[in-house]
Amino acid sequence: MAEMDKNLDSEVPREATIANDNVLLDIAKNDKDFRVRLDAVERISNMDILADIAKNATDSKIVSKAIEKISDDSILIDIVKNGKGAFRNEAAQRISDESVLIDIAKNDEDFLVRATSAQKISDESVLIDIAKNDENSYVRRAVTQKINDESLLIDIAMNDEDKSVRRAATQKISDESVLADIAINEERLTKVICEKCGCENMTVKYHKAPTRGYGACAWPIIDYICNDCGNIVSKPF
Ligand SMILES: [Zn+2]
Repeated sequence: MAEMDKNLDSEVPREATIANDNVLLDIAKNDKDFRVRLDAVERISNMDILADIAKNATDSKIVSKAIEKISDDSILIDIVKNGKGAFRNEAAQRISDESVLIDIAKNDEDFLVRATSAQKISDESVLIDIAKNDENSYVRRAVTQKINDESLLIDIAMNDEDKSVRRAATQKISDESVLADIAINEERLTKVICEKCGCENMTVKYHKAPTRGYGACAWPIIDYICNDCGNIVSKPF
């Protein structure tokens, strides 16, 4: 490997780089030591050679390393369309063309690939469309975290069928009166009953999840205050 280091200076001509990459490809395919194979992939810069490795290597870490080095969208799209399992998601993660990302986010059959692509989209109207229409709550939650349109966030916080999506939207809302409405809505959806007196007549108060410091936790809290006996039950949203 020391010999090769000398040849990898940035000033070498393109042909020499490709020749080098072919030597590295040979190492990546055939060296007995896994770490040497992985290191060889790390040093390859030719896109066609990286595509070859991504397509044909049998070791998943080698494939992932090749994908990590690929910056050509057309190769990445090919992996998303024709690759296997988690590699499709890794390739989607690296695509930068917005129209391609939109196509994948709307049409891929794997919800993880849709979510990965959707999170890279910046066109808010597309994000809104996905937040309203994707059948999978994981995807809807992923795009909700990117949406800034307050009225849509309120709509999602009130009406999404999945609690984790409602919660993700609520976490982005700061208007106290809106949060109070959401807490009331959440109480209606969860039907909390006072454990002391069995009363269903509750006043609710929403507390944003602390994001830092001691006691920071992932869930916001809703206090359900019994209007009959004053008993307070705190439940994570
Ligand atoms: Zn009570």
